[in-house]
Amino acid sequence: MPLPPLNIFEKMRGLYTPVVNIRRHVLSEVGRMVVEEKPPHYIEEIPYRVIPKSTPTYRESVFRERAIVRERIRLAFGMELKEYGAHGPIHDDEEAECMKPVKILTRPIVNVIKIGCERCPEVSYWVTNLCRGCIAHPCVSVCPKNAVSIVNDRSVIDQNLCIRCGRCAQVCPYNAISYRERPCSAACGVKAISSDSEGYAQINYDRCVSCGLCVVSCPFGAIAEKSEIAQIISALKSSQHVYAEIAPAFVNQFGPLVSPAKLVVSLKKMGFRDVIEVAAGADRVVLQEARELLELIQVKNGEKNEGEKGKSPNIIRKFVGTSCCTAWTMAAERNFPELKKLNISESFAPMVEAAKLIKATDPEAIVVFIGPCIAKKEECFQPEVAEVVNFVMTFEELAAMFQSFLIDPTKIEPQKDLHDASTLGRGFPVAGGVAAAVIKQAQKISSVPLDIPYAAVDTLKDCMSLLKKLEGNKVVPAPLLVEGMACPFGCVGGPGTLAPINRARRAAQKYAKEADHQYPSDILL
Ligand code: SF4
Ligand code: SF4
Repeated sequence: MPLPPLNIFEKMRGLYTPVVNIRRHVLSEVGRMVVEEKPPHYIEEIPYRVIPKSTPTYRESVFRERAIVRERIRLAFGMELKEYGAHGPIHDDEEAECMKPVKILTRPIVNVIKIGCERCPEVSYWVTNLCRGCIAHPCVSVCPKNAVSIVNDRSVIDQNLCIRCGRCAQVCPYNAISYRERPCSAACGVKAISSDSEGYAQINYDRCVSCGLCVVSCPFGAIAEKSEIAQIISALKSSQHVYAEIAPAFVNQFGPLVSPAKLVVSLKKMGFRDVIEVAAGADRVVLQEARELLELIQVKNGEKNEGEKGKSPNIIRKFVGTSCCTAWTMAAERNFPELKKLNISESFAPMVEAAKLIKATDPEAIVVFIGPCIAKKEECFQPEVAEVVNFVMTFEELAAMFQSFLIDPTKIEPQKDLHDASTLGRGFPVAGGVAAAVIKQAQKISSVPLDIPYAAVDTLKDCMSLLKKLEGNKVVPAPLLVEGMACPFGCVGGPGTLAPINRARRAAQKYAKEADHQYPSDILL
């Protein structure tokens, strides 16, 4: 039996491809430059360290390979891309600012590196060499536009006549007709990617929610996000009080040999004062959203007219929408603003709640969120978030940073484990985990058994289609709780992860079960 096909989100994940290798090499070289306090002109050496050969390995020319790396270096330092076609050095006297421990990140977070884009064909059907030119050739008969003909014993599609209905592919007995969509736009659930006048991918930033899934879906590595790795390392080398808050998807991201306890020591070796679990913030979110849910149930049952917490008046609230996924809430806000305003919880994300805990113990704390998520970089543009979260980095950037500091977390002597959060809080990174946590906590708080209809979806595409149905009251039974996660399978499938999604999912679930307490209320009430 053939293996089942993988969807666009699973095809290249958890694999160490040459694209991944270049991405990490650039990040670790940039990090190393800051660790070793190299002079600014050293930045011009990095492309030659990443692409050292005189003959090309991946593209038609070594000069193009280095030109792409130069753009990646700018993004890794948090700088803007250079205008396409502009000549000049990598830096424009900006690198001095980039190597200071201050936030310089500006929008957009996710960028198309034009010189790396191969201008893949947009949606199209192509006849592959599996075509046997069969006598029946049902592809010709079924085409409503006469776009398919047999030429030299082989089926041929006239792309000018084809309307991309896919009927020919459906009827071919040899599966010889293949559907192709450029991987970047196939991965984008909010239809933010189109082509510019020359056919290069271009992002519509009015639609883009910085989920970053196009970054890990482009097989040419032509889309990349800005990084804060240089500023974070600079902060670690200064006398500032830098703390790490690590998202619950971290388990097993650095390989099965790196236990949570080893990871904590590795982070401290780089200069972090302490490390806390973002799941501790998730516990607080669970409690708030469980209370909102109970209040909504009371309103629906006619036991209450107006809520003390959550939206007011509650009578027009249809459901409690979870708020932890930035890309989901942004997509809801942009596309279904009224639905979002009335229904999605205003609780802060776990990242923010955990950062508040750190700031409460050390007002001088510089908080670095480390997680699977690129959209969290976007979330930090919100003033109330920026007040408590100083920098954001992904697990991939952390792995590169370990290389920059020449730290091998597998060889670290572990010390104490993390004990900050409950099972339910640690369950957030797996799709369905947030809804399950809120329902279980609500049931524990309530004195009577509750039957709570809910909906949970992952991927932005499915989030958008669920929101549309919710707007039209087309979900039966109408859910009282709705969880939306932009990444496939939840945060464990986030673009900043390193581990294969399935392995990360199993590891996160096992780690959640090992928590000292099951419910957030066991810790917080
Ligand atoms: S998948 Fe990559 S190379 Fe292809 S069009 Fe999109 S950005 Fe360009
Ligand atoms: S929404 Fe996500 S997939 Fe779409 S362009 Fe933005 S970052 Fe890329």
